Amino acid sequence: QAKQSGRNSQCFFDPAMQAQLHARARLEGDLRQALANNEFLIHYQPQVDVERRMIGVEALLRWQHPQRGMISPGEFIPLAEENRLIVPIGNWVLETACRQLVAWAGDPARADLTVSVNVSPQQFREEQFVERVLATLDRTGADPARLKLEVTESLFVKDPDDVRESMIRLKEYGVTFSLDDFGTGYSSLSYLKRLPLDQLKIDQSFVHDLLEDEASAAIVASTIVLTESLHLAVIAEGVETEEQRSWLLAHGCRTFQGYLFGRPVPVDALFFPC
Ligand code: C2E
Ligand code: MG
Ligand code: MG
Ligand code: MG
Repeated sequence: QAKQSGRNSQCFFDPAMQAQLHARARLEGDLRQALANNEFLIHYQPQVDVERRMIGVEALLRWQHPQRGMISPGEFIPLAEENRLIVPIGNWVLETACRQLVAWAGDPARADLTVSVNVSPQQFREEQFVERVLATLDRTGADPARLKLEVTESLFVKDPDDVRESMIRLKEYGVTFSLDDFGTGYSSLSYLKRLPLDQLKIDQSFVHDLLEDEASAAIVASTIVLTESLHLAVIAEGVETEEQRSWLLAHGCRTFQGYLFGRPVPVDALFFPC
């Protein structure tokens, strides 16, 4: 009887699925060690103005796995969000980005750069999130006005009043907020009315299709107009071609990020591209 049920349960776990689960469990185990083993690093991607001058950077997390090499955040962030490892990992990113701001602060050519840090909803919703950000700014000596936190629409689906309150507390110190991947989430536009955002970040999927797809073009054009009416800044991400840049410029976008201007690179390569 036991053998029978054993065979039955195997029907639900074919070898491919089993291998997948195993790989995932191993990745999760490795992820638990990664912070202690110093396997994370940050690459920075330029954000530029109309003159292609770098005005800021986005901090993008990288995991240098001892056996598997560089693992992209698309692969491990969702896992880290599920098991809440994103909280200590996110804190590490924040701390490292703030230290970078301080390193630039003494150099007139770099002191005006902002650093955008991605914050997962799990991290933002942590009890002590605001205190932790303030403590990190305080401990590192970073200028809060140079720190931009990138949040996504998914953050606003639950308890928007709590989110609003936390944002307001951080904004009192000068921290700014950018809405990442704008237009790809599930929340209604009403949060734009209630939440104190500073910038919308046009998702790269719309930018990518801009010149081929009328709907994408319409969404991007409307987003830019919307930001003007709401007195928000706007940045287009995923800009890869001159044609995309000209189109965006013609439609009123003044800030850009994408491979056209620079890929995410280690900090030293930001200023001395190879
Ligand atoms: P995101 O915040 O929307 O970041 C933009 C992604 O687009 C980055 O991928 C960047 O490398 C990529 N990208 C930039 N320019 C171009 C372009 O011109 N063309 C194309 N095709 N792609 C471009 P990356 O670094 O793989 O990061 C993926 C996502 O992982 C990020 O999307 C963000 O959601 C998440 N992530 C990265 N670092 C962190 C972090 O420190 N904390 C959290 N919570 N999430 C992070
Ligand atoms: Mg981002
Ligand atoms: Mg994005
Ligand atoms: Mg994204």
